[in-house]
Amino acid sequence: KHITTDMATLTREVKKFATDKKLEIETLKVREEYRREFLGNVSHELKTPLFTVQGYILTLLDGAMNDKTLRKKYLQRAEKGVERLTYIVNDLDMISKFEMGDLNLVMEEFNIVELVQNVFDLLEMEAEKKNIILSFDNKYSKSIMVLGDRGKIQQVVTNLIVNSIKYGKQDGYTEVGIEDLVNNKVIIRVKDNGEGIQKQHIPRLFERFFRVDKSGARAEGGSGLGLSIVKHIIEAHDEKIYVESQFGIGSEFSFTLEKIK
Ligand code: ADP
Repeated sequence: KHITTDMATLTREVKKFATDKKLEIETLKVREEYRREFLGNVSHELKTPLFTVQGYILTLLDGAMNDKTLRKKYLQRAEKGVERLTYIVNDLDMISKFEMGDLNLVMEEFNIVELVQNVFDLLEMEAEKKNIILSFDNKYSKSIMVLGDRGKIQQVVTNLIVNSIKYGKQDGYTEVGIEDLVNNKVIIRVKDNGEGIQKQHIPRLFERFFRVDKSGARAEGGSGLGLSIVKHIIEAHDEKIYVESQFGIGSEFSFTLEKIK
């Protein structure tokens, strides 16, 4: 009797061990698949600007260098390509740091109204190219103090406003609003009347490298990393990010922050 019980226990344990191992292997497989897809995406994103830069340099070496106007034009284009590469590498660096848990937030109190105004000033020229009006709807005051990593929140606001311009329509608008919530929180909304996003794409928006329009021909550039970074930053703050969008009408991205009384 004693032995049978032991055998039963043993069998159960062996079974449990086998199931655990199977699960472990499944997890590793998924992770491996994820890693492979990530590497594939990275090299794909880097290739396009690299080929552009290489193309201009080869053309210069091929003789274009002797022509004063062509020389300047091609060097400027090559420089643009290098700039784009730098952006992508910096974004990747940030994402991998977040995913490894290597990025510490530097928390401080700052005025979110002033931060949004700074971002508006930096992006004014970009908005003017499409005649998009950047406006600030702040029903409260000139100063709303919040708690967060100032530099990273500036990146969040920048990425959201850059997107509202990129996917905004000619003569459109981007409106930023700040409102109080309960529990000492504020919500910052970035609203546009641009192209909007179809329902089926919304759940995937914050995935790295996800873009609605994957065709490389798209004039706006971008690599699908911006919103992924935004989400990482907001979640590292233990805050929430939301999106509402209607295809053909516009989008609103919003996030919460802790308010300082
Ligand atoms: P990127 O802009 O570099 O493609 P993001 O991660 O910032 O990458 O955005 C992912 C995708 O979400 C974009 O390619 C675009 O299709 C969609 N998107 C983001 N913001 C907006 C917006 N304000 N209006 C419409 N579509 C948007």
